[in-house]
Amino acid sequence: MPKITFLGACREVGRSAVLIESNSGTQCILDYGVRFNEEERLPVYSNLNRLKAAALTHCHIDHSGAIPYLYKNNEIPLFTNPITLRVSEILLEDMIKISNYPYPFGYKELKRLKQHSFFLKNGVRQKIDNNFYLTFFNAGHIPGSVSILVQVDNKKILYTGDLNTIPTNLIDPAQPNSMPEIDVLIIESTYSTTEHPARNTLEKKFIDNVVNTIETGGNVLIPAFGVARSQEIMLILKKYGYKNKIFFDGLAQKVAITYTNFPDTIKDFNFFKKALKSVEFISRRNRLKIAKSEKNVIIAPSGMLKGGAAVEHLHHIINDPYSAIYLVGYQIEGTPGRKLLDEGIFELNYNQRNTNLQEPIKIRANCDINYFDFSSHADKIHLYQYINDLTLNKNSNFIFCVHGDEKATTNFAGDLSNNGFNSIAPEIGETYQI
Ligand SMILES: [Zn+2]
Ligand SMILES: [Zn+2]
Repeated sequence: MPKITFLGACREVGRSAVLIESNSGTQCILDYGVRFNEEERLPVYSNLNRLKAAALTHCHIDHSGAIPYLYKNNEIPLFTNPITLRVSEILLEDMIKISNYPYPFGYKELKRLKQHSFFLKNGVRQKIDNNFYLTFFNAGHIPGSVSILVQVDNKKILYTGDLNTIPTNLIDPAQPNSMPEIDVLIIESTYSTTEHPARNTLEKKFIDNVVNTIETGGNVLIPAFGVARSQEIMLILKKYGYKNKIFFDGLAQKVAITYTNFPDTIKDFNFFKKALKSVEFISRRNRLKIAKSEKNVIIAPSGMLKGGAAVEHLHHIINDPYSAIYLVGYQIEGTPGRKLLDEGIFELNYNQRNTNLQEPIKIRANCDINYFDFSSHADKIHLYQYINDLTLNKNSNFIFCVHGDEKATTNFAGDLSNNGFNSIAPEIGETYQI
C-alpha cells in the first residue's frame, strides 16, 4: 500500500510538506514550506533517498519556502506553473535577502530549483513513475494556486493546498465537482472553526468606510499582503467606481506588474489592467509627500504591520483623527497588527528592511482602526460544502486535516468523524498506509 508522511503543517499553519511513497518506494513531495518565529523552521527530517519529483501548490512561503533545500543534492523535477514559479522566486529571493535565520540554502539552490522546474497545465495528467501520476486543479486561493491529485498504485489522493471556493474579483473559485472520485483527501483547516462574513456585504461596508474617511479629508492606509490581497483590494475599489487616488507601495507593485504577464490566471484581465493603470506607484522618496497630502488610499505591505512600507506610512497617519488604517487580512496573535486592532496601540520593537525607523516605537492610535475579513481561504461552511461536493470512495474515505492550529485541525477531524468519515488530524512526522 502507498504511504503518506506528514512533514509539516500538522496542527499548525506553516512548513507545509507532504511525502507520498509508492509500493515500490518511489517518493514525491507536495509543497516544502517554512514556518516563522520558531527555532526550527523547515519540515522535519525524512529520508528522501528515493525522491523522484516535487510539486508546488502555490507561492506562499509556508508552502514554497524550503523547496530550494531539495535542490542541494537532487536533480528532481519541480512541477509547478509559470506564475507560481515567478512569484515564488520573488518571495524566496526576498526571504533569503532579509532573513537573519541561517537557512541551509541560498541563491545557488534557488537557481537550481528554477533550472529543474517543469510547467503543468491544470487538468493534464503528468507521469512521474510507473503507476504514479500528478494532476493540477485550480484551488481558487491566489492566482496560479492549485490542488494536486496524486494517482499512486491505483489510489487517488487529493491534496487541496490552500483553498477557496467563493469567487473573488481576482480569480475563479475551486470546483470540487470537477474532480474524479478520490480515496484520500488531505485538506487545509485554517478556518474550519470560523465563518467569514458574506463577501458582498463586506465589500460594501469596506467601500463605505473608505469613502467616508476620504470625504472628510483623511488618508486611508491599507496594510495588505503584497501577493494577491493588495491587488484584490484594488479591484474592489475600482469595481465600486472609486475615483480618488490609489497608491501601491513595496511588493504590491512588483507582484501587480508580474501578474500582467500571466493573463490566463486573472479572472477579468482587461479590468485588472485598466484598474492597475489608474493606480500610482510610490517610490521611497515620495512616501512623505504622499502621506502629507490628503484623500489618498495607500495599499502597502506588510499585512500585519511587522515591517515594510506600511509601517512608514502608518507613522504619518496614525495620529490624524480624520484618517484611517484598515486591516484586510487575518492578524496573527503577537503581531503589531493584532495589537493595533485589539488595543489601539502600535508597537514595533525592531527595525526591518524597508523601514527607516531607528528606534522601537509605541504609539496610541488617534485615527480610525478597523478590520475587514477579506480572506482567501474557505471558511467552516465552505470547507464542509467542498467535502460534500467531492466524490469520495466510500470504502476508503480517509480525510487528513492539516494547515490549521491545534483547535482547528482536531475539531475539524472530530466533526468529520462524527459524520461518518475516517478523519485524522495527523501529528508531525506520522506515516499512514492507505
Ligand atoms: Zn497560501
Ligand atoms: Zn498556507
